Amino acid sequence: MNAIYWFQNDLRLQDNAGLAACAARAGRLLLVYFWPRNHPWFNHTGLGGQRQRFLVESVQALRDELLSRGQDLLVLEGNPEQALPQLARQVSADVVATSRAAGYYERRTRERVALRLAVPLEVHRANTLFDEQDLPFTPGAMPGQFTPFRARVEALPVPAPASSAPEFPPPPDILFADIEGVAVKAHPALPVRGGSAGGLRRLRQWTSRGGGIAVYKDTRDCLDGLDGSSTLSPWLANGCVSVRQVAAAVAAYEAAEGANDSSRWMSFELLWREFFYWRAIADDVSLFRASGATGKARRCTFEPRNFARWSQGDTNYPLVNALVRQLLATGWMSNRGRQIAASCLVNEYGIDWRYGAAFFEKHLIDFEVASNYGNWQYLAGVGADPRGGRHFDIEKQSARFDPEGLFTQKWGGFRPKQPDYVTDAADWPLPAS
Ligand code: FAD
Repeated sequence: MNAIYWFQNDLRLQDNAGLAACAARAGRLLLVYFWPRNHPWFNHTGLGGQRQRFLVESVQALRDELLSRGQDLLVLEGNPEQALPQLARQVSADVVATSRAAGYYERRTRERVALRLAVPLEVHRANTLFDEQDLPFTPGAMPGQFTPFRARVEALPVPAPASSAPEFPPPPDILFADIEGVAVKAHPALPVRGGSAGGLRRLRQWTSRGGGIAVYKDTRDCLDGLDGSSTLSPWLANGCVSVRQVAAAVAAYEAAEGANDSSRWMSFELLWREFFYWRAIADDVSLFRASGATGKARRCTFEPRNFARWSQGDTNYPLVNALVRQLLATGWMSNRGRQIAASCLVNEYGIDWRYGAAFFEKHLIDFEVASNYGNWQYLAGVGADPRGGRHFDIEKQSARFDPEGLFTQKWGGFRPKQPDYVTDAADWPLPAS
């Protein structure tokens, strides 16, 4: 049998159920990846420098691992819905397989691919803790809020991750091109590299005796990466590490050192990720609507100057400036930071949350459609928040999380004050000079 496996955000060999199933059955196996497409969306196109770097490193690392196992990776620009049927004909594939990436556009793409293929498209489990059939509800009956979701899934056993990569059959006889590198380097403040090896190293380090997990509950609100929270998100989001590998490492830590509030909190955060994945499947296209999952539109406005100032880190809120500058420089922002920056956009400037979500999508090296849009909706009060959204007092947050202003100083957040509105004599907004 000839098969094609289409990698999406599951860029790993270990504990990749769909890939393993395909490799076990195929006589010849073509492995393929498509770069994300460049759709304009809420004033943004393309990927930010750091996001692109991390992705290129992840894809390159995957290819290197495959080459060392007698396989290869075909990396393409363009539409999977056009290219996959052509490739399937070219290599006489009997089946094409992939994993179930969350998101409306991803679902539509899969459906179009399936329609155009003359052979079946097999869709396997994504990078989730639970299989769909193990959930105590169908995705359509998924709880709308986290607490009832957690109550129903917390006791479910998380299956152990597969411990080794599969044996691979050879690739078909076609040409594989090299992957072009990028000039952008990781920022020294967040020296993380894409690929499974780096992700698993970070996981081992963080969950080892004396690692960050021991004190996570107290440090998780730290604004810098690597010091406070696990900073595993870039590898989880791109699928370089599976969430079951993380859950297993947390369980191994608890078996050796005893469970504590910090280790339990980490498992709790993995459930948040799980919640947003299944919510995104249930919410489908409403994940991208201004009114979100609630269907209740929120009043908003769009003042280009305010949006430009927010997205350049040049507002009258020094901490927000520092956070946005940290994101632009490193591709990452802490959870606390994301909440503060998002609250500023939505509540201080009254801008449609989707402009902020699109900005994050462009720059975050850990961008995940479900977690990003789900969290933005939550914060803007059109999603899963039972309190109807969050409004953070930026001054209080600064005093609490950056009391001496060291983080703000480090990222150049202290900027000259500017008038909030610039208008002409007839009260029309003027472009910032
Ligand atoms: P840790 O605190 O160490 O948590 C461990 C893991 O749990 C994370 O790696 C992540 O996979 C998961 N997790 C933790 N908090 C959340 C959460 N609130 N929602 C979902 N999963 C969570 N996370 C993303 O992975 N991708 C995104 O695109 C993304 N966009 C966000 C946008 C906004 C506006 C907000 C408020 C949050 C967003 N998050 C997103 C969630 C969270 O901020 C990050 O997962 C977290 O900061 C990553 O750092 P960490 O790995 O050190 O997290």
